[in-house]
Amino acid sequence: MSLVTFSGFPRIGLKRELKRALESHWRGAIGGETLLDTARLLRARHWRLAVDAGADVVPCNDFSLYDQVLDTAVLFDAIPARYRPVFSGSALDGYFAMARGHKRDGHDLHALEMTKWFDTNYHYLVPELEAGQRFALACDKPLAEFIEARELGHRARPVLLGPVSFLLLSKTVDGSDRLALLDALLPPYVELLGQLADAGADWVQLDEPCLVLDLDNDDRAAYRRAYAALAAARTPRLLLASYFGALGDNLALAVSLPVDGLHVDLVRASEQLDAVLDALPASFILSAGVVDGRNIWRSRPERVLPLLRKAQACLGDERLWLAPSCSLQHVPIDLEAETALDPRRRAPMAFARQKLEELRVYADALADLPEAHAALAAQQALLDTQAHAPGVVNAGVRNRLRTLSPQATLRRSAYPTRRATQSETLVLPPLPTTTIGSFPQTDALRRARADHRAGKLGDDAYDSLLKAEVERVVRFQEHVGLDVLVHGEPERNDMVEYFGEQLDGYLFTKLGWVQSYGSRCVKPPVIYGDIARPAPMTVRWSGYAQSLTDKPVKGMLTGPVTMLQWSFVRDDLPRETVCRQIALALRDEVHDLEAAGIGVIQIDEPALREGLPLRRADWLAYLAWAVECFRIAAGGVRDATQIHTHMCYSEFNDIIEAVAAMDADVISIETSRSRMELLDTFVRFRYPNGIGPGVYDIHSPRVPDAAEMLDLLHRALDVLQPEQLWINPDCGLKTRGWPEVELALGHMVASARQLRREL
Ligand code: GLN
Ligand code: ZN
Repeated sequence: MSLVTFSGFPRIGLKRELKRALESHWRGAIGGETLLDTARLLRARHWRLAVDAGADVVPCNDFSLYDQVLDTAVLFDAIPARYRPVFSGSALDGYFAMARGHKRDGHDLHALEMTKWFDTNYHYLVPELEAGQRFALACDKPLAEFIEARELGHRARPVLLGPVSFLLLSKTVDGSDRLALLDALLPPYVELLGQLADAGADWVQLDEPCLVLDLDNDDRAAYRRAYAALAAARTPRLLLASYFGALGDNLALAVSLPVDGLHVDLVRASEQLDAVLDALPASFILSAGVVDGRNIWRSRPERVLPLLRKAQACLGDERLWLAPSCSLQHVPIDLEAETALDPRRRAPMAFARQKLEELRVYADALADLPEAHAALAAQQALLDTQAHAPGVVNAGVRNRLRTLSPQATLRRSAYPTRRATQSETLVLPPLPTTTIGSFPQTDALRRARADHRAGKLGDDAYDSLLKAEVERVVRFQEHVGLDVLVHGEPERNDMVEYFGEQLDGYLFTKLGWVQSYGSRCVKPPVIYGDIARPAPMTVRWSGYAQSLTDKPVKGMLTGPVTMLQWSFVRDDLPRETVCRQIALALRDEVHDLEAAGIGVIQIDEPALREGLPLRRADWLAYLAWAVECFRIAAGGVRDATQIHTHMCYSEFNDIIEAVAAMDADVISIETSRSRMELLDTFVRFRYPNGIGPGVYDIHSPRVPDAAEMLDLLHRALDVLQPEQLWINPDCGLKTRGWPEVELALGHMVASARQLRREL
């Protein structure tokens, strides 16, 4: 019979137990031993849960106190020199110093850089390597967790990040070639694999997700060299795991490597099954990733079963394993805990536990157990019924999208005309100043929101509190001398959740936590149905702010791509269709804001870049619909209405054409940390519209003085036309305190005034 396996489980715990333990430990409230006890308890609980759900083999070493890439660096002693002194005091302190920085006992160490794990919302720590780097097997975590699982009676498969992906995901601090370190890295891998073999591991999984990326010849050569070296040693059998996409042009490479099995993602890339079956050597097993490790929907038997039947016919039962497409760390743990969800909405959903249960049923169906067939037929019938459940299809929205004219993406006039009209109607000084939207979310605000949610604070009281806050923010901005004001977003818990809660088609879970990085978790909203906007969402707040002042108030919306990117999205429609539905809802909001007298409207798209597909060949298609969605949202307004967008990242090289095609009248971007370097991309492209390169790094409590901001602005003016330049912080101010904000914005206005005198 085919085995049910999986390659990783959410480690944070159903009630975020690991988060709590980590944060208590960091506060000094619990010692390292207590933290490690919690970790052990969670591992044991999760293995038990997985086996009870039907897994035959469980992964081990998928657990991490912070991040699996950091674990790999520490495992192989790739510890930058600055952290060594902390490590020699305590390995745990050293580990957390690398993860979070360390300011204690005379040390002041910054953390490793953090970046996104492929195209997920998980972030890993980027190992820092250098030429001549030495590696050594420095700890026994994989071995210890294997023994731990075995002693609990489980059949366990250690999971390791493979050597080539490890290097490709690292950076060298001296600019040297990462792959040149491969030969030094392999001996400790060999040593570890030997130890695991001695301990009785029959299989080890080596994760090589980089196999789904565009690889060059050097990368491919590194794969060949690495796996030849591992094959020459005594190791358990090796499962080479790819996920997050198709192997594509790396398939021939993957099947040429001397390993014993291959895991492929048949959710994101079901079309690769035939090619994989054709190419798979007779000695390989195939681990078929057939249920979605990235999303929270039940799988469709009508899609999955034919894939599995085909693989079974070709390979037989012994050579076929059933698995989720990737580690389950990207989904919440257990849908059973969502007791408050409407059962109709819950029925088509599956979290980690339910996904393993599904795999069990598929395995039983392959073995022709009649109950399994019945269960799958019932599941398919349920999904078919759900597709027509109330709220899933909104005929009005479908029809509107179908008949949407291409004109909808166009502004009435080109930028130069709009610019002229806007400068008449808006009457702003040269080099106008503004902010990105949010002002400090004070403890009082957070408490009031929590109390309001809990029913402890009435609607009227909460409302007056928010109004008072808006008034305070408006008065402050007038007082400090900003030109385009905002209402400050005090009513928003989160920039996606706030809108999702007001749109049809969205739902929210109670315990649907997913690890974002370390102890930080997010609870992505779920898009289950067609998106529609039953009523205006922000007009009241922006309108109230505008009623308080003669200065223009900027309306503030979260853009369609960001709404999509930070949610769990239904899988029965193409993502771009869902995005267009959101764009239409936002278009109506933009229209209503305009009608309410709001002359400047910002549509934030901080997640546009992270939506880029993993393969370059897919970029253009994505960018085309992403830009189109933004333009649908912004397209309906008069020339006089000024559309802003905001993107807080520092890499525009790959997307500058798309950003220009969005044709926002003004874009604000993050530049203060790169000291305006990233403006280069805009300059080289001759970006014509307004730009506000951030002059205040809101991620840091440090308040720059006016001279420092002025210096940045001089740099900006070296390359931009004065008519183009706006002056603003890098991002919203919600995480900062009022005293810092008062100072920083005061300095910003002073630097703007100085610069105007110099013009
Ligand atoms: N308008 C949002 C704010 O100011 C933008 C946040 C973001 O870009 N991430 O908080
Ligand atoms: Zn931002």
